[in-house]
Amino acid sequence: MSLPRFYPWHEEAARAWLGQEQRRRFAHAWLIHGLAGIGKVEFARAAAASLLCESPQDGMACGHCPACTWYASGNHPDFRRVRPEAVALAEGQAEEGDEEEATDADGKKAGKRAPSREIRIEQIRALESWANTGTHRGGLRVVVLYPAETLNTISANGLLKILEEPPPQTVFLLVSDAPDRLLPTLVSRCRRLPLGTPAPGPALAWLEEQGVQDAAAQLAAAGGAPVAAWRRAEAGVPPRAPWLDAFVTALAQGKPPDLGQIVDALDKIPAAEWIDALQRLATDVALAQAGIGARYFPELAPHSAKIGERAERSRVAELSRWLTRQRRIADHPLNARLFAQDVLAQASAACLGRRPARAAQT
Ligand SMILES: [Zn+2]
Repeated sequence: MSLPRFYPWHEEAARAWLGQEQRRRFAHAWLIHGLAGIGKVEFARAAAASLLCESPQDGMACGHCPACTWYASGNHPDFRRVRPEAVALAEGQAEEGDEEEATDADGKKAGKRAPSREIRIEQIRALESWANTGTHRGGLRVVVLYPAETLNTISANGLLKILEEPPPQTVFLLVSDAPDRLLPTLVSRCRRLPLGTPAPGPALAWLEEQGVQDAAAQLAAAGGAPVAAWRRAEAGVPPRAPWLDAFVTALAQGKPPDLGQIVDALDKIPAAEWIDALQRLATDVALAQAGIGARYFPELAPHSAKIGERAERSRVAELSRWLTRQRRIADHPLNARLFAQDVLAQASAACLGRRPARAAQT
């Protein structure tokens, strides 16, 4: 395992943030937030390496000192990473500095219980006892916690209690896509570090370096988030799914799409993913109505403009909000096909300026 590095589009912000001058007044808790898929977790992990490094250069980890070596091999005693079991499993393995709860969550020891999607209070308690013993190397202790919005009420309050009386020499780096979903009192204990969406230039250059085909279309489909675009490409997701083309083409012609066929195609795609695509389409339609170019599917721009001419603005806006609510329940619909049918019917009706044939579930 190697030392985590900052993505090229984050290097400048990282240097400014971690430079010597800044470090003297470094806050003990930070909330790192920004668009999903721009590499915030990697940023926090690289920052942790830099903070733990015993001979940082220009604020950055040197890569050679004992601290860097331990960190790279996953053994730095003054580092902890806290994330839900489900996230740890999705990442493939328990790596450096995992709290014990997650280390034994490899499915076997966790028994039949489904891996938790939340950061549990036990994980916060383990952190508390760790933070209350002396540091092993006499430097800083660093905690990287993500996604912070998976803290439930109990664990968020547990963390709040720790941050209210911060343990000495300890830096908490909380990472979140959705800071508005965090406990406000917790947010008020943190300094905010917003990370912007990278400029297309460096993002594209990086994607091309990774060998991503059709990098520009993938980046657009991911809303400008390069890491998300890379993951899509790695998973073999085309920038535009054929079902979306079929859906949009029919709507642009003012015809109801063949929902049955599309529902079949959606069967193999996670609901969150195709709802995201519909939401991006709704955004492109709304942008076209405002006379602005497509953001997500530039190649479908003539179609989204046609849809925009027909659809009422208020219904497109309403569709967007409604899709956000569907996104939240998308992980566990009662009947996946019926759910897909409903969502598509609603989206189609809004785009065609018609009443939906069938009322949606929520
Ligand atoms: Zn070092």
